[in-house]
Amino acid sequence: MSLPSSFVFKGLPTRVVFGRGTIQRVGEEVERLGATRALVLSTPHQQADAADLAERLGSLAAGVFSRAAMHTPVEVTQDALEAYRTAGADCVVSLGGGSTTGLGKAIATRTGADQLVIPTTYAGSEMTDILGETQNARKTTRRDPSILPETVLYDADLTLGLPLALSVTSGLNALAHAAEALYAPDRNPIISLMAQEGSRAFARALPAIAADPADADARSDALYGAWLCGVALGGSTMGLHHKLCHVLGGTFDTPHAETHAIMLPHTVGFNAAVAIAELRPLAEIFGASPGVGLHAFATTLGAPLRLKDLGLGEADLDKAAEIAVASPYANPRPFAQTDIRALLQDAWEGRPPQL
Ligand code: NAD
Repeated sequence: MSLPSSFVFKGLPTRVVFGRGTIQRVGEEVERLGATRALVLSTPHQQADAADLAERLGSLAAGVFSRAAMHTPVEVTQDALEAYRTAGADCVVSLGGGSTTGLGKAIATRTGADQLVIPTTYAGSEMTDILGETQNARKTTRRDPSILPETVLYDADLTLGLPLALSVTSGLNALAHAAEALYAPDRNPIISLMAQEGSRAFARALPAIAADPADADARSDALYGAWLCGVALGGSTMGLHHKLCHVLGGTFDTPHAETHAIMLPHTVGFNAAVAIAELRPLAEIFGASPGVGLHAFATTLGAPLRLKDLGLGEADLDKAAEIAVASPYANPRPFAQTDIRALLQDAWEGRPPQL
């Protein structure tokens, strides 16, 4: 492992309850927060699961709001705030993927509500103090301690029905958090260990899930990886990879997990030219050089490989490159707009990276 010569480690304040069947402890965990009226959040797709959860919570449930949407639109948050206040709620329970977690964070940072998150994808948002919100077709991202959830309950039984395609792309989304944490300017040995262990968990779990999506042990392993990779994202500064995905998702509305899955081998391959020591753990886990190994891993899993398949036109790549360089995130390898345009072209066509 390539260690920085000095570093800061912030600690891990979120309480984590991990294990199959732990959903049974959700009421106990709401009470532990000192709360008595939980507003249960979900997307429309998981409305029935949210209703079941509210029933399980009994008198601890203040109601269900099931209109969470990708990229946390502010108009939805305003309606959810109205529901939160009308119901007299004093905490939120977010059941779902990053979209539902995002809505819970948006409510928490505006009201001071405590959050209990029950993740059902591998996006990792539950372990970060990051909130991305969209308004007037622009996505802005910020970090604040009030955004970080208080409690996270990981129960793999709730992920057994996660469709295979989303399992794969969501796992690659988590791997992107690990990759960028390994070369982040504020990396530290604890976060690097978690990034590596999380990557190993997905290297084991995703092929096993592809073989049998109902493999509960593999599902637990993937959720363990999601936790660690989420901590890695929360504990470090994002680089070029997350910047490009935020531009593509925010401006062109490309789907979150698929965009991460397609871009990951390319951004890692690009940065491997200057951060080969930092990225060596990924090469060891996935074989070959870091970007090539991840591209091969994604190919084996049947992941999407081409931006053009997400409905992005070739001319959109010019605009995306222009926006990405206008306010770049920290990145180990400096770049010009032409570098980013070339990287996007490779990802658009699905060519494997060179490194
Ligand atoms: P998602 O939450 O939008 O979920 C995608 C779809 O899958 C939804 O319809 C959802 O209801 C459904 N789903 C989720 N779990 C399921 C399950 N177990 N079984 C069946 N269906 C299920 O997708 P996502 O990729 O988890 O999250 C994407 C969002 O999260 C984006 O808005 C992204 O910006 C945000 N995100 C934020 C952070 C952060 O730290 N702030 C990190 C990662 C992602």
